[in-house]
Formats: sequence, structure tokens, C-alpha cells
Amino acid sequence: MRLLTRQRAVLCLLALGTAACGGARSHPAASTRTQDHTAANHAAAAKATDVLGRRLDRSATLEVTPYERDAFLELALRPAATGTTRPSVLQRWVRSPVLHVTGNPSAEDSVHLAESAQRWSLITGLNITVSPVAGNVDISFVPRAAFARALDVENVDATAVGLTRLRIDPRRAGVITGATVVVADDDLQVSRNRTIAHELGHAVGLQHSTCASSLMDGSSDGDRSVRWSPNALDLRVGSLLYDRRLAPGDTTRDLDELLVPSAVAGVSCDPVDLELVRASGTDRHYLCVRGPQTVRPCTSNLSREPTLPITDPDAWTNGSSLSSRPQNA
Ligand SMILES: [Zn+2]
Repeated sequence: MRLLTRQRAVLCLLALGTAACGGARSHPAASTRTQDHTAANHAAAAKATDVLGRRLDRSATLEVTPYERDAFLELALRPAATGTTRPSVLQRWVRSPVLHVTGNPSAEDSVHLAESAQRWSLITGLNITVSPVAGNVDISFVPRAAFARALDVENVDATAVGLTRLRIDPRRAGVITGATVVVADDDLQVSRNRTIAHELGHAVGLQHSTCASSLMDGSSDGDRSVRWSPNALDLRVGSLLYDRRLAPGDTTRDLDELLVPSAVAGVSCDPVDLELVRASGTDRHYLCVRGPQTVRPCTSNLSREPTLPITDPDAWTNGSSLSSRPQNA
């Protein structure tokens, strides 16, 4: 499997933006939440603590490490596709997506689609189902040459093996109401397995990560893109995206107030092949490939230190063992 991946040409997985959601709009979710904050402030006073000199209401804010905060802003706000317009607001579903498959999926495609739907459901708290009749997420298994027609656009990246186009409610900023996903049925099965899981990540509202062990890594060159399942960072960020303390339409400014960096930074060293980021005082750690050098990470003090080259990244934090939705502190 790994050889097949390595031999693959450079691939590109892109999320197409939508032109239907531009412009400044009021943010009803934010004003509602502000009232909730006010009402809850007294009750939550006992939970308030000082972090980095800021008085926090833990029922309204999320404590994250600096690395998690940066990774979240990248995955939630930075457009996956260059050259597309996307409002810099948090986008997510307010009801559960229903997937409807068309085209020519293989039996293995169907298995991976069901598995991916289950994993993203666990991460986000959504109940993503597959319907044989109709849905609000159309997933087409078609040849690459048919991508543009399936997405109803004039041109697409000729190297793309999967693309997702979101539909956003024009009256409610950041509320995803539907999506069209295309997966190349003329691509290798090993690549399609990854594409399916990656595009469903876009469909729930995630952009791209520069953490190469992330399922949402958008560079997708053959050597490094070996994941078929969400990694620890995908779990954390996907769970944060759907946290009740955040809302569709949240801006960078909103997130600045709601995501509060903890005092302890992740550790890393550069240049190395691995960036190992551990949130001290928590059980969370992230392993991200950064460069071509196969150098032992200089910041290792974990009991299960990975060895290089990484032949099975899923063994580190295996999304397939995910059995319940991650709880955000
Ligand atoms: Zn992508």
C-alpha cells in the first residue's frame, strides 16, 4: 500500500469556496450567545479562574494550547484553495448532513465512506448518515474529466483527485446547508480511500492543515500523505469546531476571545522531520511531519516515542479506535 502511495504523482485536494456567502452580515448567533454569557456569568463565577492574567469563565471559553489555537485557526478559517474567496468565519452545520452517493463507487469506496461518516460523526457530534434516496451532501464518484460538470463550475485543478464545494446559508453566516463532493473513480483505490475521508473533513467545515500527518493536509504528495483516518490534531480541531461555545459565523475576533491559550506552549525543534507538540499537563500530543530530513525528534520524552521512518502513522493515534466524541476541557 505504501509503495503505491509513494509512486503516485503529486496530487491536490482542494475545497472550492462558495460565492454565496460573501459580505458583512449580522451575526445572530453571536448576539444570542452574548446574552447567554451574561445570564450564565453569575452561575459560572465559581468556575472562573485566572489564566495568563485573564479572568476566564470556563463555561464560555475554551482553554487551548498555543499550538492548538494556531492549528484551529488554520483549519477553520484559512481557505483551503488558493485564489478563492471565503469569508473568514467559522463554518459548520446546524443539522446533520445526509450523504447521497452517485456515480460509480467501488465496494471499497462504500466501506470507506461509511467508516469516514462514522468517524467524523464521533468527532463532531453530528449524525452523518448515508441515504440511498436523497441527501444534502451529494458525493459523486466520477472520472476527473467530469469534475467540473459535477461541481457546476467552469474549471477545476486538473491534478485534483477530490473536491468539495460547500453551500452556505445566504442569511446565516457560516451555516453550511449542503455540499457537492467529487471523488475520482479513475484514481487508485488506495488514494481514493484517503480522498473520501479528506473530503468529508471539508464537508463538515474543515479547511487544510500544514501538519502533514493530518488527514486534512492539503499538499498530498505521495510520500507523506499516508493517512486514511483523522489524526490526533484532526480529532481535537474537529471537536473544537463543533463545540457548543463556538458558533457558525464566529470571526477571528470572536475566536480570539473564546479560544484562550494556556500558559504552556507546545515544544518543537527545527529543522527536524517531526514536530512533536505536546500540551503539557494534558494527555494531548501531536506528531506532524515538517521536512524531508529523517532526523530523530529532539523533543522526545514520551513513553511511546515513534521511530523513523514512520511506516504506520495510524499506530500513533489511531482514528479507528475512536469510540466516543472527544471532550473539550
Ligand atoms: Zn482538501
